[in-house]
Amino acid sequence: MAITKEAAQNTMQTAQHYVNQVYETIKKRNPGESEFHQATKEILDSLVPVFAKYPKYMEGGILERVVEPERFIMFRVPWVDDQGKVQVNRGFRVQFNSALGPYKGGLRFHPSVNASIIKFLGFEQIFKNSLTGQPIGGGKGGSDFDPKGKSDAEVMRFTQSFMTELARHIGPDTDVPAGDIGVGAREIGYMFGQYKRIQNAYHAGVLTGKGLHYGGSLARTEATGYGTVYFVAEMLKDSGLSFENSTVVVSGSGNVSIYAIEKATQLGAKVVACSDSSGYIYDPNGIKLDTVKRIKEVERKRISEYVKEHPEAEYTEGCSGIWTIPCDIALPCATQNEINEADAAALISNNVKAIGEGANMPCTLEAIDAFLQAGILFAPAKAANAGGVAVSALEMAQNSMRVPWTFEEVDAKLHTIMKTIYQNSIQAAEEFGYQGNLVVGANIAGFLKVADAMMDQGIV
Ligand code: NDP
Repeated sequence: MAITKEAAQNTMQTAQHYVNQVYETIKKRNPGESEFHQATKEILDSLVPVFAKYPKYMEGGILERVVEPERFIMFRVPWVDDQGKVQVNRGFRVQFNSALGPYKGGLRFHPSVNASIIKFLGFEQIFKNSLTGQPIGGGKGGSDFDPKGKSDAEVMRFTQSFMTELARHIGPDTDVPAGDIGVGAREIGYMFGQYKRIQNAYHAGVLTGKGLHYGGSLARTEATGYGTVYFVAEMLKDSGLSFENSTVVVSGSGNVSIYAIEKATQLGAKVVACSDSSGYIYDPNGIKLDTVKRIKEVERKRISEYVKEHPEAEYTEGCSGIWTIPCDIALPCATQNEINEADAAALISNNVKAIGEGANMPCTLEAIDAFLQAGILFAPAKAANAGGVAVSALEMAQNSMRVPWTFEEVDAKLHTIMKTIYQNSIQAAEEFGYQGNLVVGANIAGFLKVADAMMDQGIV
């Protein structure tokens, strides 16, 4: 029997009402956690058509359960600095959802880290990990520790103290952290060493992003940046566009940014700008990536150093001006909420064709709306930057088998995973009447798999 237009409208209204109620509860239960509210709002709103079409998910209380972390751990991290002074930081781990596998998600060390940021990242991670097709649940963690300006010895003492508590909560089949902002190979190495010492066992699969001499995967370092570009390339291809001969702006100059710049350049783009938390550089001839890598990865200095070696480039203090540089493709790869409505307007007026979110939630909800309304191709973070965690899952697989794969093998798997995420997101968007909207498509595709697993596993 055909459903009347009126009946369809009623079902949508019931679903919208249900989602609004759940969102109100989130705000009440998590007061002041603006980033967590923002992340849940974006996903919840996209799920309205799912609840309208499949009311069984409403009846199963999936949404009420999925927005509540299975466990949230907060702990004291005391350590002694180089002057002999006692410092105290705060550590976090959210074990958000284990329906699809062990909790999986990075650790962020940055002074801005708080419960809201960890929960927003952990919540997003559930659906991102689902999209990868790998058997991993969602988690996230970190600390308000600032690695900037600290000596190696201080970073080691801090990470050892952090892991001394975290160790009791994680394990290769329980919860597998990785890196994120401020946590790279050095920090993962120190944490792995401390975990091994505490457990007296070599559990290679307890952390990912490890060094290549002790269980790390080739192509993990490159995975998030490369994966973002692979995803955006698929999206461009569907519109008859490509990276070739395009002008690209990438924010940040950390792990994700550097390898997004590398892959975009390999695909024939000219990347003219990148940044750090102090300011941005504009090089009209194209960024010399070797210089950026040395300054940021080896010397750990500011991006402003770049213009000393390349006087044709300009350095500007402050971050948001980077989005006024004309470009065909913008890849925000630094941090959350770095593109607001005004930045989006500047990009649109300069005829940007595509946005690819390499960072987590780099665009505000208003900026996303502006891009979608202007018909700009938009690749949302949870799909576009899923390559990092996907290769982390491949690292876990290699650790379990005790067999390392070559760079080419891992990179080929990453490429296939990114194409599949794109296809699944596009198809989900189409099935639910949002043709071409990857924000809605990725949220729905990621959610359905988790929801089905939760239904199968009963009320837990
Ligand atoms: P890094 O610490 O390697 O680099 C972060 C970059 O962003 C640095 O250039 C940093 O500048 C800049 N930055 C950090 N905070 C701010 C800020 N508040 N304002 C402006 N710039 C800032 O981190 P990653 O590259 O690993 O992570 C970047 C983003 O990508 C994050 O959103 C992260 O969650 C996300 N992501 C990372 C994955 C990974 O595999 N690493 C996987 C999926 C997502 P400075 O040098 O001054 O600190």
